[in-house]
Amino acid sequence: SLKGNPFSMKASKAKIIKDFGNVCFRDVAGCEEAKLEILEFVNFLKNPNQYWDLGAKIPKGALLSGSPGTGKTLLAKATAGEADVPFITVNGSEFQEVFAGVGPARIRDLFATARKMAPCIVFIDEIDAVGRKRGSGSFGWQSEQENTLNQLLVEMDGFNSSTNIVVLAGTNRADVLDPALMRPGRFDRHIHLGLPDIKGRASIFKVHLRPLKLEPCLNLEALSRKLAAQTPGFTGAEIANVCNEAALRAARHVSQCISAEHFKQAVERVIGGLDKNTQPLQLLEKTTVAYHRAGHAVAGWFLEHAEPLLKVSIAPRGRGLGYAQHLSKELHLLNQDQLFDRMCVMLGGRVAERRVSTGSRDDLRKVTQTAYEQVVQFGMNKAVGHVSFDLHLQQNAVTEKPYSESAAQLIDQEVRSLVDVAFQRTLQLVVDKKEMVEKVAKHLLEKEILDRTDMVELLGPRPFQENGLYEE
Ligand code: ADP
Ligand code: ZN
Repeated sequence: SLKGNPFSMKASKAKIIKDFGNVCFRDVAGCEEAKLEILEFVNFLKNPNQYWDLGAKIPKGALLSGSPGTGKTLLAKATAGEADVPFITVNGSEFQEVFAGVGPARIRDLFATARKMAPCIVFIDEIDAVGRKRGSGSFGWQSEQENTLNQLLVEMDGFNSSTNIVVLAGTNRADVLDPALMRPGRFDRHIHLGLPDIKGRASIFKVHLRPLKLEPCLNLEALSRKLAAQTPGFTGAEIANVCNEAALRAARHVSQCISAEHFKQAVERVIGGLDKNTQPLQLLEKTTVAYHRAGHAVAGWFLEHAEPLLKVSIAPRGRGLGYAQHLSKELHLLNQDQLFDRMCVMLGGRVAERRVSTGSRDDLRKVTQTAYEQVVQFGMNKAVGHVSFDLHLQQNAVTEKPYSESAAQLIDQEVRSLVDVAFQRTLQLVVDKKEMVEKVAKHLLEKEILDRTDMVELLGPRPFQENGLYEE
């Protein structure tokens, strides 16, 4: 290695790969949209004349964003594979040098190489290491980074109509990049690679299971689907890891082929190795969340004055617990019926959970707050009367109550009984609609997501006129 050799310092450490086992689009699964978007670069590299003849603006670069392991590098490589051109890869951190002039020199060197190899693809991984917003870095290397970034922009701007180079850049931090990078003629396409959904995961599993020697009783399709269901929140890299881990286990047991049990252990092993905070939902938790959300959905559907949910999901977003989306035009004026049904929808989650969990804290807090507001702010309680006190309940720092001790007792009592009535109503509803809750929860466990069409299918049309309150 030339490492430490002062004469090599300015040479870029780019790796040039001409033969990379012909990785192509078939090897990249679960991100069909991204593949479609990047196809334009393949077309350009294969038929530049067509673009030139038409006088079309030539696409120069695209930003591939997404968490580590979502397949950015793989997609870039596959693009080179499809276009059948060399792939030059370099990591952004390699341009971070304290010595003045080294970063820009390495960029020049990288593009000189690319021009020699053209047509080709240059992939700059972790571009945020050189592409941060100018004037935002720490002192010292800041101006050096700016010089490097400027050099990169100069190189890309210098492509002429016959430069047959495509520059792709990978990042997990698209938000910190200098906007100049995204201007037209630079990285003006943005392709995001998200976490794959259940269908995506199944197709990624298929890619990685295909070369493995499975027990004859295992069916590739069925196994892929089963493993996908067990791995919400997994990236492509984690899925590849599960498959490799299963193969290693089989080898350790001196098995002829890989069994279902090996896969089971592999999934557990990979889940166990993940950061505790980012672990995907375990199956048991997933079931609890599914019933909880089904409760919200069913309550919203069958309560006349509630706002039905538009979309319910137990798929990890980022890696949180999933979300529910309301079909609400934010209503400014709510009547008592609407507030009451709203409380019931919020309580629907807790009521439908088969094992009471801690996942209802936010719901309960909102229910309590809504009840309080009705009693002490909106004058909606007979016993307390048509009064409104100025309280900032959210800040839970009600040090001095603007009403007497006896009023406080009455208020507490009325709030409690309002919540109780709502709870009883919700319980009654969830018991009445038990099969519906069951259906929705099962659908969520299987498909992870439920939209309005699914709801109509599972629950029947919503039995109320919507009075124009809701937007379709
Ligand atoms: P990134 O560059 O986004 O960090 P990589 O492309 O390096 O992720 O992914 C690492 C590995 O994970 C790949 O080489 C591949 O084996 C697997 N992988 C990731 N995404 C996918 C996918 N969409 N389809 C198939 N395999 C994938
Ligand atoms: Zn909830």
